[in-house]
Amino acid sequence: MSTQAATADRTVVIGLEVHVQLETDTKIFCGCSTEPAEDEAPNTRTCPTCLGLPGALPVLNEGAVEAAVKVGKAIDADIPETTTFHRKNYYYPDLPKNFQLTQYDAPICADGELEIRVDGDPRTVGITRAHLEEDPGSLQHAGGSIESATHTLVNYNRAGTPLMEIVTEPDFRSPAETRAFLAKLEEVLEYLGVFDPGRDGSLRVDANVSLVPAEHVDGDGTIDGDALDDVNRAEVKNISSHRGAEQALAYEVTRQENVLRRGREIEQETRHWDEDRGVTVGMRSKEAEKDYRYFREGDLPALEVADWKDRIAIPELPDARRERFRDEYGLDREAASKLTSTKAVADFFEDVASEFDPDLAATWVADNLLGELNYREMEITDVEDRLDEFTRLIELVAADELPTQKAEEGGPRELPHGGEPP
Ligand code: ADP
Ligand code: ZN
Ligand code: MG
Repeated sequence: MSTQAATADRTVVIGLEVHVQLETDTKIFCGCSTEPAEDEAPNTRTCPTCLGLPGALPVLNEGAVEAAVKVGKAIDADIPETTTFHRKNYYYPDLPKNFQLTQYDAPICADGELEIRVDGDPRTVGITRAHLEEDPGSLQHAGGSIESATHTLVNYNRAGTPLMEIVTEPDFRSPAETRAFLAKLEEVLEYLGVFDPGRDGSLRVDANVSLVPAEHVDGDGTIDGDALDDVNRAEVKNISSHRGAEQALAYEVTRQENVLRRGREIEQETRHWDEDRGVTVGMRSKEAEKDYRYFREGDLPALEVADWKDRIAIPELPDARRERFRDEYGLDREAASKLTSTKAVADFFEDVASEFDPDLAATWVADNLLGELNYREMEITDVEDRLDEFTRLIELVAADELPTQKAEEGGPRELPHGGEPP
């Protein structure tokens, strides 16, 4: 493998546990809104269920399950006949019930995959499982970081937001590969319409990293399971961006290399990524699964999902759409890539291309529109109500009523009806 970043006799091995908030109107087990109100006060978007008050019962949100099934289809996962919920028991102040409702031995998705590109080559990352769970509340450490805070405030407005935890196989061989994966995952989730990358905290990553002795790694990069279990690994928490993942892992790989170089042992532990300082800090020895005393949630019946996979449709996904754009509109790889960067962009391009010459449509949407939006740090969705004006401009150029240069410079200001540039 070309991207192995290893000390002389070790191979970097990384597996991710990615938590994404699913876009639903209401929380996963109650009717509270998932949408923060403007300037909302702490602990106001709550009810007895998401506050964990005695006697309050959960009711599963069908929309969250539908979103999870869409994800399952997109990653080509197995969706079981029946899926169930479990209690994961632990004490932490962001968790008012002292357990998190999650899934255990019958997750909604198992054994999926996602293809990424590493140095231009396609590469398949295995997805062990993806399950539904509730987001805990959020903690605010007063007076600084988790280590130096004098006290901590808790806000349960976020508690009960639907989360999907996506667990990958230990298939990454460098920090850069995890970044490519997270970008791809976000792109797919955005196409599915189940995820808002712009929402604060909508993506959170735990990254497991170890350095496996190279003698256990085959020529084709496969590692036998015993070697993966035998080596100690660190689980780095508190990563909230693609870039953060790459930086935290780069730091952690170097730290482990230095520990080994000094002849010491890597500990099996949970570490915290301190983004401001750019370091990972040891938190605690890693908890084992048995510590959580998982047991079935008696207040939620098993859910039959066997036929949901057929019932729920998903849109054409980015890779397929990219390929089709190249075939159907004769675009080069770069243009096809730009024009499928989000579903909204791809949909708009296809609208324009259905009316005008595809080359003209590609130039105007990829170069002029996206270039301008990029310059202004805006998304196409920010100018949704102005896209008609943009189409009108292309119409004038196509009809030779407006010279291209004038259209590019002046935009619709030059138009008879006097619009403003999009
Ligand atoms: P645990 O139950 O201890 O959390 P899991 O088997 O659930 O362990 O794996 C959690 C994550 O750790 C997965 O993303 C997996 O790919 C990753 N992982 C497993 N073994 C290794 C390893 N040797 N190095 C790095 N990551 C690993
Ligand atoms: Zn609630
Ligand atoms: Mg685990």
